[in-house]
Amino acid sequence: MRVTEVDALVREAAFGLLLARARPVSLAQLGEALGISVESLEAVVGRLTAGGLVDRDASGAVVGAQGLTLVPGRHALALGGAAFATWCAYDAIGIPAALGESARVTTHCGVCGKELMVPIDAGQPPLASTELVWLPDGGENLRTDFCDPGVLLCGAEHARTWAARTGPGRAISLRDAAALGAVAWADAALAAARAGRGDASVAPETGL
Ligand SMILES: [Zn+2]
Ligand SMILES: [Zn+2]
Repeated sequence: MRVTEVDALVREAAFGLLLARARPVSLAQLGEALGISVESLEAVVGRLTAGGLVDRDASGAVVGAQGLTLVPGRHALALGGAAFATWCAYDAIGIPAALGESARVTTHCGVCGKELMVPIDAGQPPLASTELVWLPDGGENLRTDFCDPGVLLCGAEHARTWAARTGPGRAISLRDAAALGAVAWADAALAAARAGRGDASVAPETGL
């Protein structure tokens, strides 16, 4: 199994457990879910942490993965009765879209700072809305090159301002962001479904 495949499995399992429990996920819990020793997991999670692909707390437990985090931030995501945050606005729209769940996103326009609340019904944001999701072209670092500039904007005018300020990237509608997110988080949503059902073996066939 390639490094990238192991990394993806660990990120998806961490996402599933975070979503299901809304609590920090210890490496022991993650290792149990994946059938990997904590020692092996240390190297993987260390690599992911260094790359900004997971968040960990002071105890070393995973508190953020695949854009979903327990660390409060700019983009709040109320989902399944729990208060999460996300690394960017696209994460906040894309994650409930992939899960097909109702949620509420609360964030602020990247330009004027106006509070923007997006109700999500069974994974779908409202059809008629002026808000736009900024999708940066990204770069080597997911967090600084993609997520940090990935804000919600109150409308087309402030999307143009943001594009001029941070570009390159594109402003897309909430519905388009949901459609892209449903695909992007599909594997993570499957891992979440397994974690939510209490099936501890996320990837029994991998033999890691
Ligand atoms: Zn604005
Ligand atoms: Zn993001």
